[in-house]
Amino acid sequence: MEGKMNNAKTQPFTLQADPPKHYCHARGCLNEVHPSLLMCSRHWRLVPTHLQREVWRHYRKGQEIDKVPSPSYLHAAADAINHVAKLEGNSAFPVTTNN
Ligand SMILES: [Zn+2]
Repeated sequence: MEGKMNNAKTQPFTLQADPPKHYCHARGCLNEVHPSLLMCSRHWRLVPTHLQREVWRHYRKGQEIDKVPSPSYLHAAADAINHVAKLEGNSAFPVTTNN
């Protein structure tokens, strides 16, 4: 008698949710970036230094985890995003912060 091994695949697996993907905020850019970063390096380089400084000034460590960035961060981020959009000719619908 042949005991046929019919093991269902019982490979151990780790139940680990993938961290949510975070993409560059520049219009139409699908580059994945670290959640603490607003844009990929290519777009971030297009942001003038004073706007970059504003974004970082209002960045709060952990805001990408609790998803509660301050209104001032959103405002600075929108400025940076709109600036890049303008440079790339995508400024038809500027980002607004509605506050
Ligand atoms: Zn980008």
